[in-house]
Amino acid sequence: MEKIYDVIVLGAGPAGLTAGLYAGRSRLSTLIIEKGKDGGQIAITNEIENYPGQQVEGESGPSLIARMTEQAKKFGAERVTDVIKSVELEGSVKKLVGNKDTYLAKTVILATGAFPRPIGCENEGKFVGKGISFCATCDASFFEDFEVYVVGGGDAAVEEAMYLTKFARKVTIIHRRDELRAAKSIQEKAFANPKLSFMWDTVVEKVDGDPLLNSMVVRNTKTGEKTVIEADEEDGLFGLFGFIGLLPNTKLFEGMIDMENGYVKTDENMHTNIPGVFAAGDMRAKSLRQVVTAAADGAIAAMQAEHYIADLT
Ligand code: NAP
Repeated sequence: MEKIYDVIVLGAGPAGLTAGLYAGRSRLSTLIIEKGKDGGQIAITNEIENYPGQQVEGESGPSLIARMTEQAKKFGAERVTDVIKSVELEGSVKKLVGNKDTYLAKTVILATGAFPRPIGCENEGKFVGKGISFCATCDASFFEDFEVYVVGGGDAAVEEAMYLTKFARKVTIIHRRDELRAAKSIQEKAFANPKLSFMWDTVVEKVDGDPLLNSMVVRNTKTGEKTVIEADEEDGLFGLFGFIGLLPNTKLFEGMIDMENGYVKTDENMHTNIPGVFAAGDMRAKSLRQVVTAAADGAIAAMQAEHYIADLT
């Protein structure tokens, strides 16, 4: 007979790994399923500055997540890499069907996170990986001494733009308004960075190039005026990074679980509307998406899963 875990955690970002750590530490048989690399959004975040206790100089998302992975393992959480294709979440045994295997559990903690929102300009798909990127940590070094543009005005756009200034000759933030959304402390550092400039009230309408990105059309949101930006002749290309927010990874659960704008609804104890199914982290409807809130969600979800299992017996 196939093993029925106490808890299956779907996703190994900060929420999932914390859930795995707490569930393992509670001596629940725990399986964490992740389709790719651990870390979710922080796997592609260069600097983590505001996770409590984080004072390690130069701590990056990947270095923090590596320690979280080790810690979850230490407390006995099993690991598998698989892509889950379908789920059956109702009833006393939950079933997750992956490419490699089928997994059963009494409870499931959904921690599938979120992914970057596309820039939304014409031809975008053609240039992803050919000039357009959503991960400065992964791709900054390709643009050593080139010009780079960053779309967005939130924490991610401004922090990642500052990181990109360590590589690129010049970095320009393109923001649709004339005021940043990013935290004031982040803004102060950005305005003081001599390699960073700003194109306010502007959106990217179209990108082009052959085969690499070398031109784009931007539009002023106040005047409607369009401008063509072309790569410096000697460079022949420029980089365009998108950091305009996140979209939840929840398609798999559509029609099964109550959602709000695509995010899974829970109560304050991470219970979804399905008994035995919990949600944690960025895929959950909530007001603040940070490593610390993801980790907190994961801890609460795991403890609630433990209570749920105790009530079954
Ligand atoms: P965000 O805070 O939602 O900001 C998105 C930015 O993109 C906003 O400035 C928004 O403009 C702009 N935008 C949205 N849709 C757009 C569109 N279609 N075209 C052009 N611009 C568009 O997203 P984020 O910066 O990716 O951050 C996501 C979450 O992670 C947030 O909760 C953030 O606080 C957190 N985060 C935190 C840190 C940190 O604390 N160090 C670092 C990174 C991320 P408007 O301002 O005009 O709406």
